[in-house]
This record gives sequence, C-alpha cells and structure tokens, in this order.
Amino acid sequence: EIFETIKSVKYCVLNAILTYEPSHCPHCNSNKDGHNIVKNGSQMVKIVFNRAGNNPILLRVKKQRFYCKSCQKTFMAKTSLTNKGCFISNDVKRSII
Ligand SMILES: [Zn+2]
Repeated sequence: EIFETIKSVKYCVLNAILTYEPSHCPHCNSNKDGHNIVKNGSQMVKIVFNRAGNNPILLRVKKQRFYCKSCQKTFMAKTSLTNKGCFISNDVKRSII
C-alpha cells in the first residue's frame, strides 16, 4: 500500500486508469468506424473514502476522454465506480454503526 500525507492527513493512495474502446458515440450514436472517434486526453478524478479506524483511501482515477469527429463532441469513459463508491460507503456506515 502507498501512503501519502496531504494536509497532515495520511491517505492510502490507489491509482487507477479508466479506459475502453467505445463502440459508438453517446451523442450522435454513430458507430466507431476507423478514426471518427479518437482519444482526446484524460481527466483526473479524485475520490476520498473515509474508513473508521483506518487511513482514508484516496482514489485517483484517470479517465479517458474521447472526441467524436462526426458531431464534434467529447465524451468520457463510463464507469461503475459510483456503485463501488456506494458499496464502500455502505461498508463504512456499517463499521460506524
Ligand atoms: Zn458523435
């Protein structure tokens, strides 16, 4: 486990990269065909999970961003992270109870 101290709080740090190959554009629904959907950088998302009696978890997720040439819009890699977040939050709630 990697620990990092930020503002005198010691966090357990987890790094993750979220990427996938999109099959189509969520905006205009055009199917990925050759180079009409291209990778367009990434965005860092930070999520903190507080754990009772333990160091809080700092989750750093690098989300892949895509650009659709057909409609000229960008979109992000989809994630089920929120569900996992809920799971961990419920776990934390239980440990507090
Ligand atoms: Zn599009």
